Amino acid sequence: MKNISVAIIGGGHAGMTAAISARLQGAQVTVFEAAPKGLRGGNSSLTKNIRFPYSDSVELFYYLGQAERKDPELVRRAAPYTKEQYLRDWLGISGDGVDEALVSSIISDGDKAMRWLRRIGHQWTPTSSCLEGALPLDLHGGGAAMQHHNFTIAEKLGIEFRYATKIETLRRSAAGWTVARGRTSRRFNAVVIASGGFQANQQEISRALGSSWEGVRLRGVRYNDGTVSRSVHAIGAAKAGNWTGCHAVPYAYDAPPYRLPGQIAEAQAATRYMYPLGVMVNRNGQRFVDERSAVGNLTYAKLGRSILEQPGKWALQVFAGNEIGKLHEGYRKDSTVVHGDSLEDLEASFGLPRYSLTRAFADAIQESASLKHWGLSYGSTMPPFLGLKVACGLTFTFGGLQVDRQANILDEDGQKIPGLFAAGEAVGGIFSENYPGGAGLLAGTVLGLRAGFGCNTVL
Ligand SMILES: Cc1cc2nc3c(=O)[nH]c(=O)nc-3n(C[C@H](O)[C@H](O)[C@H](O)COP(=O)(O)OP(=O)(O)OC[C@H]3O[C@@H](n4cnc5c(N)ncnc54)[C@H](O)[C@@H]3O)c2cc1C
Repeated sequence: MKNISVAIIGGGHAGMTAAISARLQGAQVTVFEAAPKGLRGGNSSLTKNIRFPYSDSVELFYYLGQAERKDPELVRRAAPYTKEQYLRDWLGISGDGVDEALVSSIISDGDKAMRWLRRIGHQWTPTSSCLEGALPLDLHGGGAAMQHHNFTIAEKLGIEFRYATKIETLRRSAAGWTVARGRTSRRFNAVVIASGGFQANQQEISRALGSSWEGVRLRGVRYNDGTVSRSVHAIGAAKAGNWTGCHAVPYAYDAPPYRLPGQIAEAQAATRYMYPLGVMVNRNGQRFVDERSAVGNLTYAKLGRSILEQPGKWALQVFAGNEIGKLHEGYRKDSTVVHGDSLEDLEASFGLPRYSLTRAFADAIQESASLKHWGLSYGSTMPPFLGLKVACGLTFTFGGLQVDRQANILDEDGQKIPGLFAAGEAVGGIFSENYPGGAGLLAGTVLGLRAGFGCNTVL
């Protein structure tokens, strides 16, 4: 058997998928991870669910852990989610900047990738979300458990780890590639770039997204700063996708500047995704988005930007009556929260123009009346009321390395750069104007598997 050496740059889910798949096919694999061992996991360790295609609830049943399998009712009512529908959802919200062939191929292999994850022991549980359009299954134990399982498998397979090792540069060498940090370097036959986007680099963020993004809170880890991707672009790799685009969400107003890997409870509690149950206004009391233009997990990833564009870079979410009880535990944490018996109380507390909230609710109800499937009802405008301040939380950037469908990194002439692959948030052209919730992990899994496979074909 050929003794191929593979370097994986970044131990997130995409990198770990590539590492495990390359190792299972015989390669000698080393994972370089910028974080120390105690802080490994990347953004992947903060995740909740994967959007994948499935033909019926029987297929969903296959992914459940032992305990949930005893109660098939938990998933029986889930409607099928076909590959065609998935592609329509993804392309329908993406604008022009995505590589349609790549997206389509990711969805096409989505079920196979999920079955591979299940075969290596990952498990799912029925969703706990009450929001319309929520994905039917969540990762059992969330991304923290998923990543823990990935590391356990990798260690058993004899994959080598180099923690606290931020790779800075990549150079071509006789038999492949040299990865380097300062004066320390090692040679490999193949390299997979899985080091995420560049959202943790403030300078790059201001340059690419604009100065208004300076100081924006990261929902994820502070290691993904694009260093190694820049080095790959410097040796001729093409840029792909929307470099001014990003995934940014409604987020706790007083959240910390970034998260540590594995802080899944804190990361999930800080999300402010319940806006379809109420109204969102700026500090002038004006609605600035249609909270119910589509189901929440097709709108949330673009709303962070909308909030950032409001005066003072904040907004107010207001809920009424029974809807307040649906807010998840932690929804009130790290925020200025005001309860009131009338909308006028809330207007006074937040300094909004008088009757602006009454108008906002009236508009929202009128809009909802014209929607066919769901909306805000009169019932959800009864006292008491709750208002809380929200900000923008930046998840990850959309611009990145250009790859072909086999995850090979391409140069500016569209040619494969031999022995160089990419997967996960480091890849550009997958998302552009918006993002369908849960698609990042699916893309990372599919491209990670393809990269792991490709590494074994380089000699
Ligand atoms: C709070 C939060 C929740 C999310 N929830 C979901 C969800 O439920 N579903 C979903 O599909 N997506 C979700 N996402 C997006 C999601 O994280 C990704 O799409 C996916 O996990 C990215 O995987 P990755 O391996 O590309 O990146 P990461 O998991 O971030 O891994 C990148 C790794 O590279 C390391 N690294 C960076 N630079 C270097 C370097 N120079 N040298 C060595 N190592 C380096 C980092 O430390 C990190 O460990 C969420 C993101 C956040 C922040």
